[in-house]
Amino acid sequence: MLKVGITGGIGSGKTTLTKWLENHGVVIVDADAASRTVVEPGKPALKEIAHQFGSHFVGADGQLDRAAMRELVFSNQEKRLALEAITHPRIRKELLSQLDRALGPYVVLSSPILFESGQSQMVDLSVVVDVPEALQIKRVISRDKNRVELIRKIMATQLDRQSRLIKADIVIDNSKSVSKLHQLAA
Ligand code: ATP
Repeated sequence: MLKVGITGGIGSGKTTLTKWLENHGVVIVDADAASRTVVEPGKPALKEIAHQFGSHFVGADGQLDRAAMRELVFSNQEKRLALEAITHPRIRKELLSQLDRALGPYVVLSSPILFESGQSQMVDLSVVVDVPEALQIKRVISRDKNRVELIRKIMATQLDRQSRLIKADIVIDNSKSVSKLHQLAA
């Protein structure tokens, strides 16, 4: 089975592409979804986070306050690394298990930090969804109503565009329309 990694910075269009592939029967393993799974209520990672960062990061409903966590860790590298030390090994385990269970001629691993996290070692080839940085910011603002400073901080923790492109086996340009993206991916 061929394992294909799909990556790209925040708002580059990974989900737009993988939803379309999923509709065409491709199995998608989603690192963002896995990062939510490992901190579900009752999971050991959430207990560790509460212990290390404070119980106020867990709401009355037992869920991690992801927005507060994002604000904290993307403004403080030490805290981000501490959070990643809790979550990354568990995300990795979850991804490997999902890749192992996948059926079909190929499976896609979608991750914003495929290269940064070493997850690229889990795949046979890497596809980068590429857009100029200004367009990333514009699309994320209209999707999330996030503050531009937070988006820039998140981007600063990801590879810059050029470094990501150098590592790509295949580049898909997503600077045009969604239908053009589908056309390029077909
Ligand atoms: P993240 O890393 O934050 O999860 P992502 O790479 O999965 O982001 P998407 O959520 O797929 O990115 O796309 C970001 C936003 O841009 C979404 O609102 C999406 O609908 C929109 N978008 C994606 N591709 C295009 C396009 N070609 N034209 C216009 N809008 C687009």
